Amino acid sequence: MSSATFSATDACVHCGFCLPTCASYRVMATEMDSPRGRIHALKAIAAGELQLDATVASHFDTCLGCFACVTACPSGVRYDQLIEATRPQLNAPELRSPAQRSFRKLLFALLPYPKRLRALLTPLRAYAGTPLQAFARRRGLTGLFGPQLEAMERLLPPLAPEAFRDSWPVVVPARGPRRYRVGLVLGCVQRLFDPAVNSAAINVLSANGMEVVIPPNQGCCGAVTHHQGELAQTRELATALIDSFAQVVGEGRAAGPEPLDAVLVAASGCGHTLKHYDSLLAAEPDWMQRGATFAGQVADIQEFLERVGLSADFQAALKPLRHDDGSAATAEHPLTLAYHDACHMIHGQGLRDQPRALLRQIPHVRLREAVEAGVCCGSAGIYNLVQPLEAAELGRLKAADLSATGADLAVSANIGCSLQIRQHMESQPRPISVRHPVQLLEQSFRGG
Ligand code: SF4
Ligand code: SF4
Repeated sequence: MSSATFSATDACVHCGFCLPTCASYRVMATEMDSPRGRIHALKAIAAGELQLDATVASHFDTCLGCFACVTACPSGVRYDQLIEATRPQLNAPELRSPAQRSFRKLLFALLPYPKRLRALLTPLRAYAGTPLQAFARRRGLTGLFGPQLEAMERLLPPLAPEAFRDSWPVVVPARGPRRYRVGLVLGCVQRLFDPAVNSAAINVLSANGMEVVIPPNQGCCGAVTHHQGELAQTRELATALIDSFAQVVGEGRAAGPEPLDAVLVAASGCGHTLKHYDSLLAAEPDWMQRGATFAGQVADIQEFLERVGLSADFQAALKPLRHDDGSAATAEHPLTLAYHDACHMIHGQGLRDQPRALLRQIPHVRLREAVEAGVCCGSAGIYNLVQPLEAAELGRLKAADLSATGADLAVSANIGCSLQIRQHMESQPRPISVRHPVQLLEQSFRGG
């Protein structure tokens, strides 16, 4: 550990204010699995009093990287920077078992590559979302292959036909007078596991007077690998993504040379990484400037819509959403929503009010707050796959918390959280559906 790490940890006064917000501490209740404990370990490592061995590393692996501790810390400790600097060191081969390393390798070879993921998922279309899947889960058959493969199976949603093709044109025109020209990052997991979100995002943007540019060759933004400290692969993915936008925008090809007003994304985990392309590529002379320019254009779709405002026509067309029984929401009987703050949105990007303000524009919705709104749901990139037991406990707590609000629907703007919460909603006595905010906006625009 460097002396820079040492001075960054110095700001911690060990007050413990961060502990109640820490997801890993919440389910493990051990000091070493808390932000304060990990900071203490970093100080000891920097001072040469502790060695980063497999046991110490395992306590960093239990960290979800949710950054709730950063928001909670009164002393301004930047734990996010500390864990980001530590993660690459945890990838040293001697710190994890061969089985852990192989499983991670498999995930990093699959998840950031939509084509490979599609090839893997194609035969599973006959299984996902069918009675066979329900039977296998009920009988515990999915557990026969170990907790990690069981966790992967548990996340598998029904697979829509649209998940297997990117059928959007390079440019979707604005409906009505054009207000802005924006790019859209589709996300790799989102486009496969919940393609309806990107459809809704494109429709909502277009209906709000935005021309949407969708580079057809875009791959993963690198969020999955970035959050695990796999920096070389992340840089490769980041530069490829920047290039895919340059091919259709900067170099004047299909979409024309006109610059974009913003690059939008409808998944908070991706947005967080995209906004870090400046620091990620800062050490690469050929990419430093391009990374910074790209990062400066990135905005979450909710952040951008709230910033520029919905168009007057779009707003005027919004109708109340419907309850389960088909009746339209009214002032007396509103539709209640529990907004789930993704960690990479609220703690990672500082966006809390924008999504709520956007949802309030739908007539007759009322927002309800979960008791532990700022605590991680346990998804955290690949956390629910590599730390399945802790993640499952957090998922159950989150689903119960959202359900206990009494809301009609839960709303989540991050694909990982949505899959995690849906999975654990199934075991709730009062399960509620999970939708993306842009899906609700689109539904309201189409008549409720
Ligand atoms: S990180 Fe901040 S809140 Fe947590 S123990 Fe240190 S000073 Fe206190
Ligand atoms: S990032 Fe999240 S899980 Fe990690 S120490 Fe901070 S609060 Fe705990």
